[in-house]
Amino acid sequence: MSEQYQALYRKYRPQSFDDVVGRDAIVKTLKNQVRTGRIGHSYLLCGTRGTGKTTIAKIFARAVNCENPQNGNPCGECPTCKAIAEGANLNVIEMDAASNNGVDDIRTIIDEVSYSPTSGRFRVYIIDEVHMLSTAAFNALLKTLEEPPSYAIFILATTEPNKLPLTILSRCQRYDFGRLSTQTIADRLQDVCEREKIRIEEKAVQYLARRADGSLRDGLSLLDQCEAFFFEEELSYDKVLSILGAADTSIFHRLFLEIHTCDAAAALKTLEEVLLAGKEMTQFVTDFVWYLRSLMLLKASEDAGDLLDVSTEDVAQMTEDARRAEMSEIMRDIRILSALIEQIRYAADRRTLTEMAILRLCTAAMEEEPAKGMEALQERLRQLEEAVSQGAVVTSFAQGGQKKESAAKEEDELSPEAMPQLTEAVPEDIRQIVKEWSKILSTYPAQLLKSSLQEANLSLGEGGKLLVVFNNAIVADMFMQNEDHRKEFEEHLSKCTGKIVPVEYRCLDKGRKFKDNYVDLKQVIRMEIQTEDE
Ligand SMILES: [Zn+2]
Repeated sequence: MSEQYQALYRKYRPQSFDDVVGRDAIVKTLKNQVRTGRIGHSYLLCGTRGTGKTTIAKIFARAVNCENPQNGNPCGECPTCKAIAEGANLNVIEMDAASNNGVDDIRTIIDEVSYSPTSGRFRVYIIDEVHMLSTAAFNALLKTLEEPPSYAIFILATTEPNKLPLTILSRCQRYDFGRLSTQTIADRLQDVCEREKIRIEEKAVQYLARRADGSLRDGLSLLDQCEAFFFEEELSYDKVLSILGAADTSIFHRLFLEIHTCDAAAALKTLEEVLLAGKEMTQFVTDFVWYLRSLMLLKASEDAGDLLDVSTEDVAQMTEDARRAEMSEIMRDIRILSALIEQIRYAADRRTLTEMAILRLCTAAMEEEPAKGMEALQERLRQLEEAVSQGAVVTSFAQGGQKKESAAKEEDELSPEAMPQLTEAVPEDIRQIVKEWSKILSTYPAQLLKSSLQEANLSLGEGGKLLVVFNNAIVADMFMQNEDHRKEFEEHLSKCTGKIVPVEYRCLDKGRKFKDNYVDLKQVIRMEIQTEDE
């Protein structure tokens, strides 16, 4: 790139209202105001980034000061137009409120308002990202907006009008810049390509326009990016995809085949590879769901390929994948994985949960196509599910049947069948506390903490500790983050029982049930009492 290189969106920034695309109503209104001289003092331009707010503001600033306006447009030729375009005219002041949001920043420009312009008719203040101003700055600005000098125009631009005080909103003429349509952006890109002599496939233009997501500036930046890479070559759809990092579908293709040939070991190995490559699990599963959804669409209609934003080669591969499975199977895969995404978002053991889901997909595929090894697979799945429900983190399927010792031990201690043994193991102190829990709490002085403890569940922690499990993270934090609260409670326990009782506090993971994860000591003790009564 030469030194004179200018980003396309700057180079093709419209210089007059007539060059602006997709803003017909706004342009018409502003042109009429310039033509008839009925110019307001405060304007508010709202809309997402890259939709033309600043561009329109600048054209307007020139148009109102132009010495020879053409039907509401700035002429672009007179000294004033030229000076403003070069940023050399003192009558147009731009300010970015994102970096200058204090009351002093606003004061600086407001102080100048009192001096009438040395040349030209209007002094135009363009304040970008105006919602970032501090409250004090807004108040200072409001005073000026309420009584502006005849030569002052304020153009406020914002992406978040909902953050502006009503007092400001009510003072301004408001213009909303919605997202531009894909076709408007595509047409403009095509136009720029012609002028720049960039050869580009029509399908590539459409793809860029879709990726721009309503922002012309983003569309032009994407085009810039592609052009810089394939300088003077024709921009084909596939080239554009490769530059803009469309998903690499080969890994999904492999995983899909492994699942649908019921090769669980291979599927889990693929998953391991993905992890080793540093992919984030939730993102990977989300992308895989996207792949499956694409297969579903291709199965429904082979024309769907045009909508998928994947290369021609990939569409062929995916169409073949889609033929391999029944619609119902693909939909089942999507269901299982969508549920998984919800589940792993807040989970610590994402990998195990994902492995379980992959195994479930393989098992389900097998049910439809029975094969050897089904029982072993289901057994492995059952083990994983059990281990996870006990809170154990199973490290890798690659370790095969040899479960980690601690996980196995925990399972023995905590699985429902083992519960009678556990009651034997509850230390007498703990048993006493659980039995008398309500009584102990009834004399506990701190009211808020008391009700939290009443709602908490009790279980047995490592080394015979009393485990207090809270359902709610805020409540749990009152103990887990506050040593005074813990100390106070533990001293109270000692006072009631005459013994020092080690206590541990935990918070139940979101969405989990206490009984599925811990032994419920209150229930164990209740059962004991019932047995004694019989
Ligand atoms: Zn002019």
